[in-house]
Amino acid sequence: MPDSLDHAQRLLAQLRFPSGDPPPSGTLKNVAPAIWWLRMPLPFQLNHINLWMIEEADGWVIVDTGINMDETRQHWETIFARELRGKPVTKVVVTHMHPDHVGLAGWLCARWNAPLHMTLGDYMSAQAIRNGIVDQADTRGAHLLGNGVPADKVETFARHRGGYSKGVGPLPPSFDRLIHGHPLVMGGRRWQVIVGRGHAPEHASLWCPDLNVLISGDQVLPKISTNVGVWSNEPRADSLTWFLDGFARFRALPADALVLPSHGFPFVGLHTRLDQLVAHHDARLAEIAAATAARGEKGATAWEMVPVLFPRHLDNNQVVFAFAETLAHMHCLETRGYVERRTGSDGVHRFVIVKPMSAAAAPDDDTEVFDVV
Ligand SMILES: [Zn+2]
Repeated sequence: MPDSLDHAQRLLAQLRFPSGDPPPSGTLKNVAPAIWWLRMPLPFQLNHINLWMIEEADGWVIVDTGINMDETRQHWETIFARELRGKPVTKVVVTHMHPDHVGLAGWLCARWNAPLHMTLGDYMSAQAIRNGIVDQADTRGAHLLGNGVPADKVETFARHRGGYSKGVGPLPPSFDRLIHGHPLVMGGRRWQVIVGRGHAPEHASLWCPDLNVLISGDQVLPKISTNVGVWSNEPRADSLTWFLDGFARFRALPADALVLPSHGFPFVGLHTRLDQLVAHHDARLAEIAAATAARGEKGATAWEMVPVLFPRHLDNNQVVFAFAETLAHMHCLETRGYVERRTGSDGVHRFVIVKPMSAAAAPDDDTEVFDVV
């Protein structure tokens, strides 16, 4: 829709992108003292991920790894052959458990005999999902059925996440823990771990006051909005509330910090982007509240509200993310007291409006492209 495109362009124009074009795969680009930007391909609609390397006196720190596929490993080998100036990789730091970020962590750690740094929540979640301990197909099926997904679609959708262990190679059996507020020394400077929730269990962003640089991971992205979903292993999660609550930790940082995101371009305008994202979610909450109100006492399932938030055609992969995101908005409305959950004798959760919500002023934008889970 032209209006949505114009709106997206207007939002982008409020940010600055000082680092220029991305480096070709297999090469590094310097973006701040001792910080290097690299890109790896992804086999999805979202076709790239940004990774970071931090140069130390006697080695290199890798931040995020790319997805587990041969092409990524080949690009890494090119970088190792050409760019390391004879120094080894000494640390692998992973922001969160999604395959594009953690996929090659095990391979990199083994390749360099380097430790893996992750939060407890994301290391354990990655291990549990990869090894089939949580998030099995029947749990996913029950979660989808309970939120109104028709039985004939459940089987297709419930199989969707089986690809996790393909995109993530075996992980090291031990790790070094990242904790919110605690320091991590990289490149001879102290960085501070900032944990955010809602996109992943305990997503670690990394803040360096000396450099005024934030490695934001997927927690703050410049163009697309981060996927915030409710998934079957935590079916009552209030992911959107948790996600938005975490913004306070980023608002405490300087407005002119250079933000290094996992997708898109490095940018300046952190507070502006947070404002845009709050407006985006407020608008979507208002839309879903209005559509739920229109159904009166009958109420609405999360599945029935997917076309309200995502009116365009979605493929099977996108629908799974759209559903998870719609449910996250519904749970946020429930927490804020706008809707109430009524669970029928069929076990299906329907939401009924109990307090009107005034429409948010911001127009809806349709820029959402899904991140990889
Ligand atoms: Zn992610």
